[in-house]
Amino acid sequence: MEYRKNDIVTLKIEDCGIDGEGIGKADGFTVFVKDAVIGDTVKVKIIKAKKNYGYGRLMEVLTPSPYRVEPKCAFARQCGGCQLQALSYQQQLAFKERKVRGHLERIGGFTHIPMEPIIGMDEPYHYRNKAQFPVGRNKEGKIVTGFYAGRTHTIIDNRDCALGVKQNKEVLDRVISYMEKYGADPYDETTGKGLVRHILIRYGFFTGELMVCLILNGKKLPAEEKLIASLREIPGITSITVNVNKKRTNVILGDELRLLWGQTYITDKIGDVTYRISPLSFYQVNPRQTQKLYAKALEYAQLTGEETVWDLYCGIGTISLFLAQQARFVRGVEIVPAAIGDARENARINGIENVEFFVGKAEEVLPEEYDKNGVYADVIVVDPPRKGCEEKLLETMIQMQPKRIVYVSCDSATLARDLKYLCGKGYEMERVCAVDQFGGTVHVETVTLLTRKA
Ligand code: SAH
Repeated sequence: MEYRKNDIVTLKIEDCGIDGEGIGKADGFTVFVKDAVIGDTVKVKIIKAKKNYGYGRLMEVLTPSPYRVEPKCAFARQCGGCQLQALSYQQQLAFKERKVRGHLERIGGFTHIPMEPIIGMDEPYHYRNKAQFPVGRNKEGKIVTGFYAGRTHTIIDNRDCALGVKQNKEVLDRVISYMEKYGADPYDETTGKGLVRHILIRYGFFTGELMVCLILNGKKLPAEEKLIASLREIPGITSITVNVNKKRTNVILGDELRLLWGQTYITDKIGDVTYRISPLSFYQVNPRQTQKLYAKALEYAQLTGEETVWDLYCGIGTISLFLAQQARFVRGVEIVPAAIGDARENARINGIENVEFFVGKAEEVLPEEYDKNGVYADVIVVDPPRKGCEEKLLETMIQMQPKRIVYVSCDSATLARDLKYLCGKGYEMERVCAVDQFGGTVHVETVTLLTRKA
């Protein structure tokens, strides 16, 4: 049967798509329904129809799924941040495991997948140590901050995100009342005018140190000292900075950072290693699960103390320093200069001397070092952003013939693509483990061990 726009249909949701949407069938016609949960029977209105499939808007849950739970956040449905809050956490984990396996099968072409059980969180809320809140005005002209609604840049006024730390609200309340009182205008994306673009907050779970960075379309804030005085009253605050970004872009941070008060960084710990984190550097957002993720990566690396290791996409040296405790020597590569500054400082404050860091693109630094200096690796660790590795990098990795490759990935689709390449050229997938770092959302981290076939 064919359906058309505006038709109303009743469906049983039987599957979940990679973006968390429910999938059901009506007489062979597949319908994707945002906010519907596996096991629900729902009434939907078709909003877009193709020949064999379409998209439906959830009108009513007729029979709720046994997996349905009450989201903690009142904005869970509108907000672009969470897709799975209405699904029980156990089922979220099952979904993520299926998603990774599905990508490895369909994109990677693997038939035998040596997958270990997914490592979940003890508490899937309030786990994020970082948040970047956009600032704007609502229709009434009031200053608002929160998160973007799904697929738009409309700001949902919510200062108390259920994934973030409780300190976020206090910081936001203070920054917004300062802005109202001293005439610091929010930035307007459509006109490019206004000053305050985003409020970045980072919290050290282990140290209790709190960072606030205001991202500005300009250099200076009015009555800066008033903002500083207000924020300094918050317990734990150690870093207040401004970042300048005058570009008309969706990229949040600019390059220029200015200290307003305290230090330009906070410190935090993972395991025994202390890390210094600046606003410009990448740092894993879920520190408790990161420890489990790195422990898995370390386990897969099988270090005895004799190995030479390359850690590509090393950020502030988090994995590098973790591995250096059990390797002979670790070399890290990262594109953001400030992150490498942090990485070197992190090595120093931890007294770790068997590491060296390079600034540059992994796909340029490694081939260059290999061609010029014939560098060697027993183990290569990669932890790329969502787009995965460039083929040039994978090619050099193959030439270097490390015994093991540990691939840490935040996007199982690009992971599957890259593993297909590596496993087509002499490597074998030996172990795979998903580690959930992002409860409430469809995202998941995966660690994979590849070994060189003899
Ligand atoms: N391993 C680190 C960081 C992983 S996130 C950790 O666990 O904390 C990915 C990192 O890759 C980011 O720090 C990003 O700045 C960096 N990056 C992005 N593209 C890159 C490239 N082409 N070459 C090297 N690093 C890159």
